[in-house]
Amino acid sequence: MRLASKRVPPPGTALGDVTCPTPDFGHIVASRPLDVRAPRTGDELRDIVAVAGPQGVPVSARGCGYSMYGQGQAEGGHLIDMRALNAVHRTADERTLVAEAGATWRDVVRAALAEGLAPPVLPDHLGASVGGTLSTGGFGASSHRYGLVADAVSEVEVVTGTGEQVTCSRRHRPDLFDTVLAGLGQCALIVRATLRLVPAPALVRRYRLHYTLPGPYFADQRRLAHHDHFTHVSGQARPALAGAWDYVIEAVTPHTGRLPPDDAALTDGLRHDRDVEEIEDLSYAEFLHRMDRDERILRVTGEWERPHPWLTLLVPEAAAVSFVPTILADSGQQGLRTCGTVQLRPLDSGRLRAPMLRKPAGEDLCLVSLMRTAPPADADAVRQALAANRELYERARELGGTLHAVSAVQMTPRDWQAHFGPAWEGFARAKTQYDPHRILTRGYDLWP
Ligand SMILES: Cc1cc2nc3c(=O)[nH]c(=O)nc-3n(C[C@H](O)[C@H](O)[C@H](O)COP(=O)(O)OP(=O)(O)OC[C@H]3O[C@@H](n4cnc5c(N)ncnc54)[C@H](O)[C@@H]3O)c2cc1C
Repeated sequence: MRLASKRVPPPGTALGDVTCPTPDFGHIVASRPLDVRAPRTGDELRDIVAVAGPQGVPVSARGCGYSMYGQGQAEGGHLIDMRALNAVHRTADERTLVAEAGATWRDVVRAALAEGLAPPVLPDHLGASVGGTLSTGGFGASSHRYGLVADAVSEVEVVTGTGEQVTCSRRHRPDLFDTVLAGLGQCALIVRATLRLVPAPALVRRYRLHYTLPGPYFADQRRLAHHDHFTHVSGQARPALAGAWDYVIEAVTPHTGRLPPDDAALTDGLRHDRDVEEIEDLSYAEFLHRMDRDERILRVTGEWERPHPWLTLLVPEAAAVSFVPTILADSGQQGLRTCGTVQLRPLDSGRLRAPMLRKPAGEDLCLVSLMRTAPPADADAVRQALAANRELYERARELGGTLHAVSAVQMTPRDWQAHFGPAWEGFARAKTQYDPHRILTRGYDLWP
């Protein structure tokens, strides 16, 4: 297995030995762009791409740099800092909003909540850019109900690899629309997107339900995901005593305050430990910003700046029930106990609509995210984590699982071809049509 086709420093050296002027959140891959450009308009972006194409100069957009494995880097090319393209404004249609690609979800939430609205799905961390999230699909705690963040996009303006500036939607140029959303920035760069909004609740009631066994946890999490009242459902595995793991469901139901939810009815029949259940009301804004506090703490402790060899897999839920406990018991995964978070999201396949997303067969799916930190200045530890990620990815594939492309997994073009399966040929045709010079977003190593 090749671990070092990307510029991961060789064994025995520290990560800091390769200086990268533009590290991403992963702090694993180091690339040197030719330059960093910061377009202020779609026209300026178009001009950069139009000139770069015939010259074969790579171009990658960088939103907020939360990639784990160099997916947004541009070795020897133009790194496009999208942050100047960050306007968010309302449209004539009261239920939509236009966000430029460099805006963050914090910007979007601020503008939408001011009107009593919100996107139906938001990533947990609101610091990522709109363009970066839409290009990878975007999962959130309400994905079981509303699909991907990208599934709420009704129109998108892009610049293709040929330097063409196009507005596309399900009706107009649907082929391009479909290859852009969750399309890993391969055919076009996103300039702005029109996002559908839904009414935002004033308050939400959050239930944290604790389990010691995976079986009841997965069964109850699925039950809550099918429950009409719960708009947000996600879970975590957490380290417990004596090497064991506990499980926690976080389920959220909106309410107005005047008519509070009936806790007994909503949790009736669930098999959690009732002595330690946590129930609290939050404003919707507080709930949406729930990761801000974690981020502040991780920044203070320095964890935020460490290498992040994260792995996210989509697994059939029936397989996840035994796959997850096996992973957690694996000696190679013990680092997760001390510096990591294990997130488990229930998903309904039929709700995940962007065609470029690769998902397992079957309706009930589970998104398994192993979000771990590696020690700084220890390339060997990072290599071990990458090797463990690759091994887990192989095991997940045997169970019918797929990779979420934000992960830190070394992938070859052949791996990507297997990943896209029957969609590969159409994807390759779209790449040839829209990015014939193959300059866009090379950080994924998608093409030979
Ligand atoms: C703390 C944390 C929490 C997270 N939580 C979630 C979560 O809940 N759900 C989820 O789905 N993901 C989550 N992620 C993953 C993150 O949302 C994705 O990696 C996302 O792609 C990051 O976008 P970015 O703009 O910050 O990153 P970048 O590294 O700047 O970009 C990511 C990718 O998108 C490409 N790109 C950026 N802008 C554009 C554009 N305008 N057009 C085309 N391509 C573009 C880049 O080239 C790169 O390939 C989380 C990440 C972190 C660090």
